[in-house]
Amino acid sequence: MREGQPTAIQREAYTAPAFWIDTVDLTFDLDPAKTRVLNKMRLRRNPDVAAQALRLDGEDLNLARVLVNGGGTSFKMDGAQLVLENLPEGTEPFDLEIFTTCNPEKNTQLMGLYVSNDSFFTQCEAEGFRRITYFLDRPDVMASYTVTLRADKAKYPVLLSNGNLVEQGALEDGRHFAKWVDPHKKPCYLFALVAGQLVAREQRILSRLGKEHLLQVFVRPGDLDKTEHAMNSLMASVAWDEARFGLPLDLERFMIVATSDFNMGAMENKGLNIFNTKFVLANPNTATDMDFGNIESVVGHEYFHNWTGNRITCRDWFQLSLKEGLTVFRDQEFSQDMAGVASARAVKRIEDVRVLRTVQFAEDAGPMAHPVRPDSYVEINNFYTVTIYEKGSEVVRMMQTLVATPNDLQGRDGFAKGMKLYFERHDGQAVTCDDFAQAIADANPGSALAHNLSTFKRWYSQAGTPRLQARGAYNAAERSYTLTLSQSCPATPGQDSKQPFVIPVTLGLLSRDGQALPLQLAGSAETLTQQTLVLTEASASYTFVNLDSEPVPSLLRGFSAPVVLDDGLSTADLLCLLAHDSDPFNQWEAGQRLMLQSAVQALSQDNAGPVLSDELINAMRNVLRHPALDAAFKDLALTLPSENYIADQLSVVDPQRVHALREAMRLQLATALQADWQWAWDAHKNNGAYSPDAQSSGRRALAGLAMGMLCIAAVQVGDDVTPGRVYQQFKDAGNMTDRFNALSALVVSGHALANDALALFHKLFQHEALVIDKWFALQAGAPDRAGDVLPRVRQLMQHADFSLRNPNRARSLIFSYCSANPAAFHRADAAGYVYWSEQVLALDAINPQVAARLARAMDRWSRLAEPYRSAAKVAIERVAAKADLSNDVREVISRALNAA
Ligand code: ZN
Repeated sequence: MREGQPTAIQREAYTAPAFWIDTVDLTFDLDPAKTRVLNKMRLRRNPDVAAQALRLDGEDLNLARVLVNGGGTSFKMDGAQLVLENLPEGTEPFDLEIFTTCNPEKNTQLMGLYVSNDSFFTQCEAEGFRRITYFLDRPDVMASYTVTLRADKAKYPVLLSNGNLVEQGALEDGRHFAKWVDPHKKPCYLFALVAGQLVAREQRILSRLGKEHLLQVFVRPGDLDKTEHAMNSLMASVAWDEARFGLPLDLERFMIVATSDFNMGAMENKGLNIFNTKFVLANPNTATDMDFGNIESVVGHEYFHNWTGNRITCRDWFQLSLKEGLTVFRDQEFSQDMAGVASARAVKRIEDVRVLRTVQFAEDAGPMAHPVRPDSYVEINNFYTVTIYEKGSEVVRMMQTLVATPNDLQGRDGFAKGMKLYFERHDGQAVTCDDFAQAIADANPGSALAHNLSTFKRWYSQAGTPRLQARGAYNAAERSYTLTLSQSCPATPGQDSKQPFVIPVTLGLLSRDGQALPLQLAGSAETLTQQTLVLTEASASYTFVNLDSEPVPSLLRGFSAPVVLDDGLSTADLLCLLAHDSDPFNQWEAGQRLMLQSAVQALSQDNAGPVLSDELINAMRNVLRHPALDAAFKDLALTLPSENYIADQLSVVDPQRVHALREAMRLQLATALQADWQWAWDAHKNNGAYSPDAQSSGRRALAGLAMGMLCIAAVQVGDDVTPGRVYQQFKDAGNMTDRFNALSALVVSGHALANDALALFHKLFQHEALVIDKWFALQAGAPDRAGDVLPRVRQLMQHADFSLRNPNRARSLIFSYCSANPAAFHRADAAGYVYWSEQVLALDAINPQVAARLARAMDRWSRLAEPYRSAAKVAIERVAAKADLSNDVREVISRALNAA
């Protein structure tokens, strides 16, 4: 990482490896301070590449010995690479043996082999394997692995690696060993080992074909009572991939191991997934509904990688979205299918789109903007982004939409056919995004995707969020309605002008009184109630006929493309959609748009009056009181757009004004709908025994929102009764969701009981690390009152439970403040920025990956109003001035400075 000048890696510079590694036989003598690694490989020259030296990647290794075919050999170091020039000629295989040591307990960056709570774990994606042994650390080199682990038996009773356990036994001096063989070839980033004192929940399952498999979830001894949901999620994932895509589990044994020190969410190592505890451990007393949902989706995500990522992997890291975008799409579909009924599916879709629009659109508009398939990077770890993951998933989703037929309206069957062809062609290979798109298109000849494939692939190569403008014109004499769609896309770093995208626009038309109108394109005999137009040019017009009155268009239903829509609809149109749209996504969207418009208008004016019109308040009341809508939907519809999302609509952002305005809107909703909130709380707060299903979690969410609103209204008028009742619920709650909602309601409203509740909460859960993370995060994310959050955060840094080394804890306090609490962070005295720069530098010395993520809190500094903008720049320059920054932080910081 700190090796000389960072150089950018270019996608176009890809060349095939000069050598293949067929087999790897690794022996580990595990010791926290000095682990010895014996790596015996069988290699051969790649006949397709000109003969050259073998260059093996390595990092932070101590090299002891190199043997070729059992004998000594000459070698040299070139930077971090081990170079062997005198290898046997010809294409015959030869043996290479490398003996190294490393120091896992000093490994604070959590890449390669590291120690956490006295156990050993590995993390190899993207380039961590080179921190374990010298290797061709690139995903297109796939080998068969045999792994022998040796360690002290009392300290490390459980020894795990990929594949099947073939042998185990005792050694001298209280040590023991285990030998694992992985039946599948894999790239080294999927290698894993775990050793420590762990216990497992086990489950035997039968596949559809009648094969038996063992599923295991390994955790620390005290955590076994928090593994049931992860195991259920894993079983559901196995069943789902078989049912929806015909993809079975290809291993006798599938293991998940939880660790509390982990940089990311989880990792799909073949047969041995390693997870952040946050995405495994849950019981009703310690985890919220959101945690339960996240666990289901992350367990699914990692499991689905077994086919999309592991069986077919990426040729190079520029193709990262090949596995990540596709696998996010699969986990989103899995969660929707698990949610069941249409309304619950829609809620999941709304939640996913909300993340995309608040985080990915912001990324697309900032200095780190990059295509789904980037053209260059300095540090690959910086490209595990919402663009690769979430936008990548939207690109896959559009492919599904574009292979739809009249008998397969969503394109599910066509897409499944495409997946089948993808596996027929590429199983066992390392391939590119082009290969994937080609397979989906080839399996669906005649589809809109097949017709427009090369244009469609601009979604992979062009960064930025397209703008889609839609304007309708009704012709009463002709009884026709002409819709004109046009697109553009703002410039992004390195891409000044863009070519048109292929944009699927799913739409319906409504009458003013909310009836669905038939859609009949001029010249077509077909009438439908919903249809997908495919815009492939800069602009196009579509005329619908046989319409008796001017329709209200409902465009981009289900968020059919990741674009910013400007449909020019009036307030009356949006109110009509909010009341009547049969598409739940657009119904929700209409409400959000109305609130957003009110916010943007108020910000541009400076008047002190109420922000939300009576009309809008009434419409919101109607949603809240609606007899047929789901509680979960109501919760989403009545939640105001976030400060960051409001800020995204502005060209110059004053975070203090945005915050004050949103607080005013919230207070207005709280007081104007007080009786309705009271009803909503009373009607939804009792839910019987805890179950994390969509229905009851929706009820808890709405009850929580209502309780929060009631608290805000109460504090405003000095009423202590309601906060008192909330405090009581906090104490009596039968599950973490209700308890945490009550705690949040007190903290957010600023009621005096908040401090008592926080103290009690800490006392109750002091031994539950994941709950203590919530405790830190809630305080760091609390609404700022006269600048009180930063001093509180600084004080919490001194708390006995705080640790900068543990990524979850660092995120819970520092990230919650810097990235998720804009008004507390963007202070006129710049103290938030000073804190940020201190923490980026402190973290960079420990864990560059985590530091670089924190560095991104300043991504959008150049759009800030003064005095924030100048102060932010000074802080970024302060970080940039540090001589020995990691490549990770250096890349983020230099991009940010170039944005100005
Ligand atoms: Zn993934």
